[in-house]
Amino acid sequence: MLSFSDRIADGRVLLADGATGTNYQDMGMQPGVAPEEWVLDAPERVIDLHRRFVQAGAELVLTCTFGGSPIRLTDGPLAGRASELNRRGAELAREAVGGDVLVAGSIGPTGQLAEPLGPLGHDDALVAFSEQARALAEGGVDLLVLETFFALDEALWAVEAVRSATDLPLVASFSFDQGTRTMMGLSPTQVIAATEPLGLAAVGANCGRSLEDMSAVLAEYSATGSRTPLWIKPNAGVPQVTAAGVVYPESPESFGATVAGFAGAGAGILGGCCGSTPAHIAALRAALTVR
Ligand SMILES: [Zn+2]
Repeated sequence: MLSFSDRIADGRVLLADGATGTNYQDMGMQPGVAPEEWVLDAPERVIDLHRRFVQAGAELVLTCTFGGSPIRLTDGPLAGRASELNRRGAELAREAVGGDVLVAGSIGPTGQLAEPLGPLGHDDALVAFSEQARALAEGGVDLLVLETFFALDEALWAVEAVRSATDLPLVASFSFDQGTRTMMGLSPTQVIAATEPLGLAAVGANCGRSLEDMSAVLAEYSATGSRTPLWIKPNAGVPQVTAAGVVYPESPESFGATVAGFAGAGAGILGGCCGSTPAHIAALRAALTVR
């Protein structure tokens, strides 16, 4: 099969998968349970969601290891089991999708702010991120993705750590949940300035807020003139709390039509984040096909 880099270089948009957590909730995951727990407790459901995304047209799936940092796991039921969890998460994704779909190892933030705002120091971050990256690589992923990052220092430490553990392609994606800024005030322009010398396989944005905001984030990324491929996985709109629970406003059709338009605005990899179901990815696939 093609590598991630070959596939990106061919110029066609690469379709990634949608959400993990919100789909698990639809599949019966109880409140208070972290999605990562299903890797060990409900592997058949992890495999099922990966397969439904591939049936919808996804050419890349992310492992269910977003919260698998050893630091983030410290106070929960998976404390001390980060290597096992990440390796198993990678193996399940590969088992689910076979050899013709790319498996991306998902790495989320540690959940701690970096010094001096919080307790996270460079050395602890390096140990944690490298353990997670090494286990994902051992489990057979094709690339690694830093997802939903919001602080530049933590992201740069994660890049350093991943690079110390593996030569696999690395993507860095940030959550701009303050419009076109992250929680820490970071802008797409600043992300490009800081990461361009690092030779990442792609940079981009996931989660965040509305599709309109994501469009503005993409425009700012594109305006930098960077040649680094852009990875864009928006939520299915801003979640609304209703009597029936949390609802994401973008239908598969509206999501597919809008997000497919991001291809013309410079995105190289498209998918979905919170609230995006296999139906959203199928609609995106269809909308990309008619473009
Ligand atoms: Zn999200």
